[in-house]
Amino acid sequence: MKTNYHTHTTWCDGNDSTESMIRSAIEKKFDVLGFSGHAMYPFAVEWQMSALSIKKYAEEIRELAVSFADTIEILLGFEADYFPVLSTPSSGIYKEIKPDFLIGSVHFLFDEKTVYTKNPEGSGIPYTCFTADGPEEEVTAGIQQVFKGNAKKAVQTYFSLQRDMIKDCTFDIVGHIDVIRKRNGTLRFFNEQDSWYISELKETAKTAALYNKVVEINTGGIARGVINDSYPSIDFLKILNSYNVPVCLNSDAHSTKDLDCAFDISLEKAKTAGYTELMYLSGGSWKTRKL
Ligand SMILES: [Zn+2]
Ligand SMILES: [Zn+2]
Repeated sequence: MKTNYHTHTTWCDGNDSTESMIRSAIEKKFDVLGFSGHAMYPFAVEWQMSALSIKKYAEEIRELAVSFADTIEILLGFEADYFPVLSTPSSGIYKEIKPDFLIGSVHFLFDEKTVYTKNPEGSGIPYTCFTADGPEEEVTAGIQQVFKGNAKKAVQTYFSLQRDMIKDCTFDIVGHIDVIRKRNGTLRFFNEQDSWYISELKETAKTAALYNKVVEINTGGIARGVINDSYPSIDFLKILNSYNVPVCLNSDAHSTKDLDCAFDISLEKAKTAGYTELMYLSGGSWKTRKL
């Protein structure tokens, strides 16, 4: 089984149309292709779909799923943001669209303690936030402005948000679980070997196990050339395996050429971490296949 559930198109910040992605997946011999447009339904920021386009996106995918049904299984999903109060990756929120799956992702990073108290309008929207996987300048400025230069606090908050999302929301796949590493190769704002960092990984793995989430091995950073590794790191993957957290393989593709980017080396990495099987979603349920 060759599958991918993390696919972006021109409906959000991807470069290719839904149909081009499907045709490329067929060429690359995929059995299942799931689409995961960026969403914080019913709201949106610039790289996410508006409520109206979400409905059109869903219609298009359902139609294409029927047209291509003989060749490939096409699934409708979302990469839904966790941004407490504003957006949660919860099946209840997306119920009228009836997606086949949801990926829950933390992109926005803010100081949890100030989120509900500091905004004078009392809207619950934090004064300042930044994207953990944003450009280097944004991450550098974000750590300074939101966390007063305390990078450790920023990283701990990132994992704390991740755990809150896992506990509080009903979704299928945890998206790029340690994407906070994306800019660490150049910015070096934390040490992945520090004991506090390892503790965050263990606590997060424990939570994912408790709430029965599938964690994706995400190769998107390799495709973008920003990090020479998939998420999660090998150390994190070993920890996840020790807590029996199931994994699936996703490319987070924004272009047709990246649909199976680094799949071969990522499968080897999963084996090295001790995994013997991978999860895949097909015919409406999660199943396992041998690695
Ligand atoms: Zn993402
Ligand atoms: Zn994505």
